Amino acid sequence: MSDRSITLRNPADDSVIQEVSLATAHDVDQAVARAHAVLPAWRDMAPNDRAKLMRQFADTVAAHAQELAELDTRNMGMPIGSSLWCANTAAEVIHYYAGAVDKHLGHTYPVAGGVTMTFHEPLGVVGLIVPWNFPLLIACWKLGPALACGNTVILKPAETTPLSAMRLGELALEAGIPEGVVQVVVGTGPEAGWRLVEHPLVRKIGFTGSTAVGKRIMAGCADQMKRVTLELGGKSANIIFADADIETVAASAPGAVFDNSGQDCCARSRIFVQRPIFDEFVHLMVAETQKIVVGDPMDPKTSMGPLFTRAHHDRVSSYLEGVTPTWTGVAPTGNGYWFPCTIIAPADPLSRICTEEIFGPIATIIPFTDENDVLKMANDTEYGLSGSVWTRDAERAMRVARRLEGGTLSVNSNSSVRFSTPFGGFKQSGIGRELSMTAMDYYSELKTIFWKS
Ligand code: NAD
Repeated sequence: MSDRSITLRNPADDSVIQEVSLATAHDVDQAVARAHAVLPAWRDMAPNDRAKLMRQFADTVAAHAQELAELDTRNMGMPIGSSLWCANTAAEVIHYYAGAVDKHLGHTYPVAGGVTMTFHEPLGVVGLIVPWNFPLLIACWKLGPALACGNTVILKPAETTPLSAMRLGELALEAGIPEGVVQVVVGTGPEAGWRLVEHPLVRKIGFTGSTAVGKRIMAGCADQMKRVTLELGGKSANIIFADADIETVAASAPGAVFDNSGQDCCARSRIFVQRPIFDEFVHLMVAETQKIVVGDPMDPKTSMGPLFTRAHHDRVSSYLEGVTPTWTGVAPTGNGYWFPCTIIAPADPLSRICTEEIFGPIATIIPFTDENDVLKMANDTEYGLSGSVWTRDAERAMRVARRLEGGTLSVNSNSSVRFSTPFGGFKQSGIGRELSMTAMDYYSELKTIFWKS
């Protein structure tokens, strides 16, 4: 990487993909000026017309799903089956928010001396700063509600994974979204990202990324009281009681840690298993993990690819220094940034591998005695994003899920994220919520007008 460009590499074989120019703070200023200039036209457009353009955008993304998926797979190593699912879901998310344009309703209040009405007003120019682990999908989670509310947007992808976002910007124009409404700036966090944070005409930052950077962004927004939502890191718990259907749990648990090579904020990497079934579960977990096909991410049969950069590979590897894994899978050799599925059982819940977000394919399995014991350990973390509870006892399922400090949980499943339901974290996993109609509140201001009569 030079000051003004970055060389993108394919994580599967370390080959050079292309060189991409990096935006300066001055480039960001120009993008903000354009976004601000076109804001009135987009904000004041008839809702039906804005919704129609968004539907065209969604259809254009769907029509290019394969192309977008291949860009993400080459750029960050996600298996093509997953990146195709992400691209199709990205189109569905934009469709969902096209439908929300005329459904984000205010209220009327009969009050003394007249009536009061509330309106959801757009914020203005918003900066969307997204990470590298789901480059296209997370961008569209934010673009959808931001555009539907009538904001103009500047999307800043991670500089290491900009390709799908760059294409997304072109597709918005092809779909008829007016020039300047969706702009993509590719630049580093400290320069381009930070300029969005400090620019006075940017009225909100929608951020997904690490907790450390999220804190800096929140502090940077404070000065102008800039609106900010933060979707940050996690260290989620998968809690398995002895009465659960152990075969179903074991079939699901590996994917919940190893999907996307563990580079998933919701990865349930702390697996708590009640003592009577601990050994049997570890045995089944290893057997199920052996079914994961690690290899060329462009091959549709592959279920796990490499880690996304060499630097990240080295960081993940550092977590195994001085640790003897219980089981290690196989991974291709060669120039790619390959890392095998790794299981540690029993793991010490206070150790570094159990407390820090690794963002790699390392699962820790921890025994527990009873509800109080597991809740104490599971909640003993600064994070609170996701998690699961597995039991056949319905009352216990609800009790534990209600006491687990996490924003987006599941019972007898490891799947908790749907675009029609709210998503976000407790504690240092973030502030605010994404997805569903709830996200519309985070991309608008509530205005109250009293009308005397
Ligand atoms: P990161 O925080 O390093 O970077 C995220 C984005 O912020 C990138 O676009 C980066 O360029 C930008 N950035 C970095 N420094 C900045 C600064 N000083 N000012 C403005 N922008 C800056 O995170 P990452 O490594 O790209 O992503 C991995 C992290 O993201 C993990 O912690 C993961 O848990 C988290 N994540 C959270 C969610 C969620 O929804 N909660 C989803 C995906 C990823």
